[in-house]
Amino acid sequence: MTDAEALLAVRNVTKAFAIRGGLFKTRIGEMRAVDDVSLTIPAGTSYGLVGESGSGKTTLGKVILRLVEPTTGQILFEGKDLCQLTGDELQLQRAGMQMVFQNPYSSLDPRQSVKSTVAEPLVIFGRARGKELDDRVRSLIATVGLRDEHLYRFPHEFSGGQRQRIGIARALALEPKLLVLDEPTSALDVSVQSQILNLLLDLQQRLGLTYLFISHDLAVIRYVCDRVGVMYLGRIVEEAAVEELFARPQHPYTRSLLSAIPEPDPDHRFQPVEVNGEIGRLALDDRGCRFAPRCPFVMDRCRQIDPALEATGSAHLVACHLYSDGAVSN
Ligand code: SF4
Repeated sequence: MTDAEALLAVRNVTKAFAIRGGLFKTRIGEMRAVDDVSLTIPAGTSYGLVGESGSGKTTLGKVILRLVEPTTGQILFEGKDLCQLTGDELQLQRAGMQMVFQNPYSSLDPRQSVKSTVAEPLVIFGRARGKELDDRVRSLIATVGLRDEHLYRFPHEFSGGQRQRIGIARALALEPKLLVLDEPTSALDVSVQSQILNLLLDLQQRLGLTYLFISHDLAVIRYVCDRVGVMYLGRIVEEAAVEELFARPQHPYTRSLLSAIPEPDPDHRFQPVEVNGEIGRLALDDRGCRFAPRCPFVMDRCRQIDPALEATGSAHLVACHLYSDGAVSN
């Protein structure tokens, strides 16, 4: 698939933030939250981004929507590079890409009723008014499983799951093609999580939506996504079709994530990996593999050379010197 054929193609995107210190908060360095990331999402599919807190996945989601400006790289949506667009042209493209946020308690304005929350994007973009606007809002809340009687209520009157349904209805208002779903179920009770995941799957089928699904939970990613990228310190360190990743995880970090699931899959056995410590921060002058400080397989060259993301099998990519050597099997 070419970049022009994909709904979304991210090419070599980096986002660096200044590190400031001292009395006058002068710039003393840079931290790469997203580092040379590329990914492709065909229309109608779901791509999962998984990793610990601090891995850069939410920043990447915001960079893709240009809610945060990338430092370098290309973001091609329907073949157009969003980084080259400004003003009305950018707003028009942005309408086709919407975000659903993690926390349904803080992402809704407590002073706005459901009706005005869902209607707001349609009003701002001048898409509907009067009766047409009213009908459209009623149709949107019905699409997410809410009823007319909910229209004039306020966010505090709803449960977490219902609030997330309101957030999804608002995100759908401009008929986007791509939804960036940032941990959309992690603030919800387990029973409600499955309802929202099933709603998202149903909406994808009915509306032909494409998802970038951000989560720290591989089980959720497996339920929803077709393909998955594992992020560590700003970089995708492994990417594969979901079932391939569960059957043959390669990168030590991916294997540690899967090892942390109580019963990842009795049919798919791999050598578990346990890692210690916490995810750190990557400065511009750091060399070598970013997972080296925590990796039980670390070698001398891991500390010198940053491994490239390379194919190890059919559409299975991994960034690890163990595989460039062909030295490890599952
Ligand atoms: Fe571990 Fe080396 Fe592979 Fe990095 S490159 S994950 S340190 S074995």
